[in-house]
Amino acid sequence: MSAKYQINYIEEIKRLKAEKNAIILAHYYQTGDIQDLADFIGDSLALSQKAASNEADIILFAGVKFMAETAKILAPEKKVLLPDMNAGCSLADSCKPADFKNFIKNNPGRTVISYVNTTAEIKALSDIICTSSNAVQIVNSLPFGEKIIFAPDRNLGNYVKSLTERDIIIWDGACHVHEEFSLEEIIKLKRQNPEAKIIVHPECELPVRMVADYIGSTAALLQFTKNDETKIYIVATEPGIIHQMKKVNIGKTFIPAPPKDSTCGCSECSFMKLITIEKIYWCLKNEKPEIIVNKKIIKKAQKPILKMMDISRKLGL
Ligand code: SF4
Repeated sequence: MSAKYQINYIEEIKRLKAEKNAIILAHYYQTGDIQDLADFIGDSLALSQKAASNEADIILFAGVKFMAETAKILAPEKKVLLPDMNAGCSLADSCKPADFKNFIKNNPGRTVISYVNTTAEIKALSDIICTSSNAVQIVNSLPFGEKIIFAPDRNLGNYVKSLTERDIIIWDGACHVHEEFSLEEIIKLKRQNPEAKIIVHPECELPVRMVADYIGSTAALLQFTKNDETKIYIVATEPGIIHQMKKVNIGKTFIPAPPKDSTCGCSECSFMKLITIEKIYWCLKNEKPEIIVNKKIIKKAQKPILKMMDISRKLGL
């Protein structure tokens, strides 16, 4: 595709947005051109908050399906569009509703905290939702003796458990992107750049978390690079965030942490990268594919998400 056509797509998208009173919400893992086009960019928590409070009639979600579903659950009266319905999530797929129902049944008396990276059905089975930005605070907001089920990410779950020292049973799911980072390659990079800080998302495995100078959600990692004096970082999360890191930290260097398999490019989320400028244009023009969520599921899933938002608001997150 030539630059000329890309400029036309962007102009057309802007025109359609104004004509249809639509907004584009984009996740930090989208490509730089989509982040620059979006009305709002953020991590899962910020995007949920924005989906729940905006004046648009249409939300076009540049992200993956569970995020667009969350927007629909929070704003059921709005039309929510996802440019490619194949934009799934290996982590959300690792937790199937029937299996999760049995897991809850087999571990009775526990408060079910689910990460936002789950299907609408899993959210409907949960007591509180969390994101990587607020998981520790959500767990800490419960009385100390309260027993917890945490799903679906085993790495985030173990990280939260280690910080909160709560009685937590963890669902055995994972994100294929965040489990792909190579500890050996990160250490090699650190030897070559001894002044670099290693910044890591909590969905990464324990050995990678153990060499981190800082662990945080995507938004927290971005904030850390803004406040920190260091000039060079090794970044162990999906490299889409580096676009924003470079924009707000002129002159600093960001090195994406390499994957275990150097031939696969699999530290990029292939689901996130299914969304393109062209697909956004056609989606907005045709107003499809549209996210449809069963009304009963919306009603049940709203409660735990609103609970998370309420706790986050009270804690100033
Ligand atoms: S990076 Fe991992 S958790 Fe995030 S959307 Fe992709 S597969 Fe899912």
